[in-house]
Amino acid sequence: MTAPHSDTPPEHNHVIVIGGGHVGLSFALLLAHQGIYSTLLETVKYPTIAPDQDRERQSYLDSRNTALSRRSVQIYHEIGLWDELDSHACRIDKVLISELGSFGRATLDKQAENVESFGFVMENAWLGRVLLQAVKASPYIRLHDNTQVTTISQDDDMAHVTTISQDDDTGNGNIQLSAPLVVACDGQHSPARHMLGIGADSHDYGQVGIVGVVETDTPHKHVAIEKFSPAGPLAVLPLPDSADGKYRRSVVFICPKGDEHAYLHDDAHFLATLQQVFGTDAGQFVQAGRRGTYPLTKVLAHRQVVGRCVLMGNAAHTLHPVAGQGFNLCLRDAYALAKLLGENLQNAKSGKFGMTTPDFGNQARLLGYEQSRQTDQKRVIKFCDTIVGSFTSTNPVMKVARNVGLITFDKIPFIKPMVATYAMGLKS
Ligand SMILES: Cc1cc2nc3c(=O)[nH]c(=O)nc-3n(C[C@H](O)[C@H](O)[C@H](O)COP(=O)(O)OP(=O)(O)OC[C@H]3O[C@@H](n4cnc5c(N)ncnc54)[C@H](O)[C@@H]3O)c2cc1C
Repeated sequence: MTAPHSDTPPEHNHVIVIGGGHVGLSFALLLAHQGIYSTLLETVKYPTIAPDQDRERQSYLDSRNTALSRRSVQIYHEIGLWDELDSHACRIDKVLISELGSFGRATLDKQAENVESFGFVMENAWLGRVLLQAVKASPYIRLHDNTQVTTISQDDDMAHVTTISQDDDTGNGNIQLSAPLVVACDGQHSPARHMLGIGADSHDYGQVGIVGVVETDTPHKHVAIEKFSPAGPLAVLPLPDSADGKYRRSVVFICPKGDEHAYLHDDAHFLATLQQVFGTDAGQFVQAGRRGTYPLTKVLAHRQVVGRCVLMGNAAHTLHPVAGQGFNLCLRDAYALAKLLGENLQNAKSGKFGMTTPDFGNQARLLGYEQSRQTDQKRVIKFCDTIVGSFTSTNPVMKVARNVGLITFDKIPFIKPMVATYAMGLKS
């Protein structure tokens, strides 16, 4: 259990955040940047990291990765974390898109699009570590890990949560906490969503994402390669070289549910399949690291705000990873809500609009937040659905259309900047 400050947060300037995944940790830090106190509750006990381990990389083939859009990088810059994150990130300068066994091919190039980059590939282990260290160091955040939220209730003035702690050291058992606002970032299966009686539409893609790191014999030159196959989309993304100069790439390999076992446990089969799919675009695949699997489901909550409670992150919308948009979208939501609450706090401090205390749980304001995020969320969801739908269709007419699409994509000037803008997360 980690509680960096012993003071009780001011009653009116306090948010309870449920779930300390990448979204919950980032949201608490964005709140802290606005001068807002939060209590962050996480079921899992975080591993203890010795200070001298901080800069040490894990095994060079042992990590999962996230493609961060340029907008996400800007957000981490703004809260002073990017320089540290950057040490384990790799820039994307070019994106090659093609379909397995077809002639169509499209390229996004940073020079042609006149942009600095299309984003960065970030090692998840490092992202989590940097976020957690920053949370632990923040005087605005009280962190309780090993603590599960079991109930949520609310009245006119406050929202209340009950937790159960597994931490024998503290002997806390059940504790009750209250704050004007509860934000649940508790993941795809979101217990909070059920506790709040919010329904969700769910679609099982019948696919599994296999994620891992591979070594190739050729440098990546900052190129991301996306290949569409009838089984699902596959991507090879650039990563920083290992400490001893080996060329590493992140792989997102999607296959029908049930087919994953052969790719998980047989390195030779996995590498041979990658070679067959990507040809020589990434050079020779020479070694594969540990792989993780993720069953792919789309989950869209029917509402994101109920009274003084907000759903955020995968709890609000879980997307297909095809375009690397899920976390980037969540981070933009988190940024927007933190900014809104920060303005509310500043107005109260300066007595603007006759306000003397902030009301973070103000219904109209929270519904305004939900409304304001609709355009960005709907656009990204549609973008992902369109890619998944069009590239997994086996209809021969669609196959021709896809080839024509990839060719015209390269020829029609306005399409590429539009897609690039989505990929960079700069449209919201
Ligand atoms: C294969 C794959 C590749 C992806 N690649 C990308 C990418 O390249 N770019 C991108 O933008 N996105 C990507 N995504 C999406 C991204 O991973 C998710 O959007 C992101 O991880 C969501 O984080 P989260 O914090 O909302 O949820 P989670 O990571 O699920 O965290 C939820 C947390 O809540 C805690 N919790 C649950 N219940 C309780 C409770 N009752 N009390 C307290 N705590 C609780 C859990 O222990 C957990 O730590 C990818 C997804 C997949 C599956």
